[in-house]
Amino acid sequence: MIITLRSQSSIEERASLQNYVLRLLGSDSLCRAIVLHERDYLVTTPHRIHHEIETLLLQQNVVEQISPLTTPYQLVSRTFQSERSTVVVGNDIDATSVALGGESGSPVIIAGPCAVESRAQLFATACAVQKAGAHMLRGGVFKPRTSPYAFQGLGLQGLTLLAEARDMTGLPFVTEVMEPEMVDTVAEYADALQIGSRNMYNYPLLQRVGHHQHKRPVLLKRGLSATIEEWLLAAEYIVAAGNPNVVLCERGIRSYDSQTRNVLDLTCVPLLRTLTHLPILVDPSHGTGQRELVAPLSNASIAVGADGLLLEVHHDPDNALCDGRQSITPSHLQHIIHDVTLLTHLFQEHAK
Ligand code: PEP
Ligand code: MN
Repeated sequence: MIITLRSQSSIEERASLQNYVLRLLGSDSLCRAIVLHERDYLVTTPHRIHHEIETLLLQQNVVEQISPLTTPYQLVSRTFQSERSTVVVGNDIDATSVALGGESGSPVIIAGPCAVESRAQLFATACAVQKAGAHMLRGGVFKPRTSPYAFQGLGLQGLTLLAEARDMTGLPFVTEVMEPEMVDTVAEYADALQIGSRNMYNYPLLQRVGHHQHKRPVLLKRGLSATIEEWLLAAEYIVAAGNPNVVLCERGIRSYDSQTRNVLDLTCVPLLRTLTHLPILVDPSHGTGQRELVAPLSNASIAVGADGLLLEVHHDPDNALCDGRQSITPSHLQHIIHDVTLLTHLFQEHAK
């Protein structure tokens, strides 16, 4: 259950309501105070409550609304918030900010190399993706590599290069953070923080991106074998820690067939739109592992309702230090953007 408190309530009123709720719900219950978008909420367990308790709570002056929810995730649920969230990445004040989700219907394209390899590689790719029509830049500098002998990323030096590429192209950028201790440092440079698939279950990291100083939006990738409920609960960790700006990213799940790197679960997109108000991206690069499959799966992602795409692009994919097999060229990206734009117009015309 989520209790929305009246905006003008005092600290004392909120504390006394919290005690009252705990008395009503019993000693094994939980009642957590959360502030989101400058509004106060109490999130409680157990999720199901008796009608009489709801009536008693609604009689309290400080209570504005009660949302009884039956799902384990609460704040990210579309039952709690029916309108889809819009997450703004980048500087709100200038024209370079990007809005993800909501009802706009225009897909956001985030493109760039798997890993930042060098100044020359990053700048060549960043300029090319901007020219091709991308709205945001991506690039890993702390790389979660399966082998300890593989290229691990440029670290801090890579962050400064990404910041320079942003200045040059005007594109805000997202980059992965792997450790709670590094969140503030990465957030000083990055416009959005990526939590990689391997870290979806890293709860200290989720909490840290939820309450870090800069409050950057978080792009939360689905765990390698995570259920949709586990994924939404991971998002709930971030929101419950105080950061409502979470974007989900489907990137394929593990299966038994080695023909593709992963199985891109596009079913989750329309399903998630009913379960959560959070924006939803798809990453067909990691989802397929093969550059030939990126274009058709990009179209399919937009057709099922994704709010945007995360695409790995390299100016010389065959010589990339990381994920070259699934990386597309800038001209390939331009074709994809052309096609998904057409598709979007078609849907918008049809909806009129
Ligand atoms: C990435 O986007 O570079 C990445 C490592 O992706 P994932 O966490 O989905 O494997
Ligand atoms: Mn990659």
